Amino acid sequence: MGDRADLHTHTTASDGMFPPAENVRLAKEAGLAAVAITDHDTIAGIEEALNAGKKYGISVVPGMEISTSSGGKEIHVLGYGISTEDKVLLSRLLALRNVRNRRNEEMLGNLAELGMHVSYEELEAAAGKSRLEDGSIGRPHIAQVLVDKGYVADKKEAFDRWLGEGMPAYASLTRISPMDAIQWIHEADGIAIIAHPGLYGDDDVVLTMLDAGADGLEAYHTEHDAQMEQRYAEWAENRGKLVTGGSDFHGVKDGVAFHGAIGSRTVDSSIVSKLLRKG
Ligand SMILES: [Zn+2]
Ligand SMILES: [Zn+2]
Repeated sequence: MGDRADLHTHTTASDGMFPPAENVRLAKEAGLAAVAITDHDTIAGIEEALNAGKKYGISVVPGMEISTSSGGKEIHVLGYGISTEDKVLLSRLLALRNVRNRRNEEMLGNLAELGMHVSYEELEAAAGKSRLEDGSIGRPHIAQVLVDKGYVADKKEAFDRWLGEGMPAYASLTRISPMDAIQWIHEADGIAIIAHPGLYGDDDVVLTMLDAGADGLEAYHTEHDAQMEQRYAEWAENRGKLVTGGSDFHGVKDGVAFHGAIGSRTVDSSIVSKLLRKG
């Protein structure tokens, strides 16, 4: 394992359970040569991870995972080797995170006008540890508060009557496109990789992005089967693009790793220099 790299892990900087330094320590313990930190829409955990990398003697790849939308599908784009001091990138990521907060506030405002009063504090309390897939707060949490406060009988009613698309309290979520994310990453001197292409159920979108400017595919991922891994690795290789992989580690609860344990999906660590544009 001394020449392997896990290029997809989350920390407490987004929706992971462990601080960045702990991910790095676990990667070292797993015998890896390198680990990437790829939190959702933020690079806040990278500095701590880089310092831990020096301490434990393991290579840390700065990264992030940007949530985008294409044709109604949520598409994740990984960015590697970005500069953590890039002011433009930092302000763009901040704006991304703010979009969701504004949308939540808009929906709470709509509910208040309908006589259902939910404060942002109540919403955050309901979200607690059970954040959405990208680490954020959203409609399922609002629905939970509506149930808790007796405005609706269950979460289904909350969506059917108030929060579902087209319902009175609904507000739409504007996300950037995958191509925007790729451009942002390139402008921050990073390498743009399409995350877990097997999870979208839409290979046309994946191929389009790959041919339109993405630098590679995350062929190896905890949720991919062997066929997917082979297919995506071939697609990328045939086009002279990069093939990456990682566990998508989010933490461990009761001895079970979320998505996958650190080191459960890896690629040869020789790719690291390419992700850092040093190869
Ligand atoms: Zn993802
Ligand atoms: Zn992820």
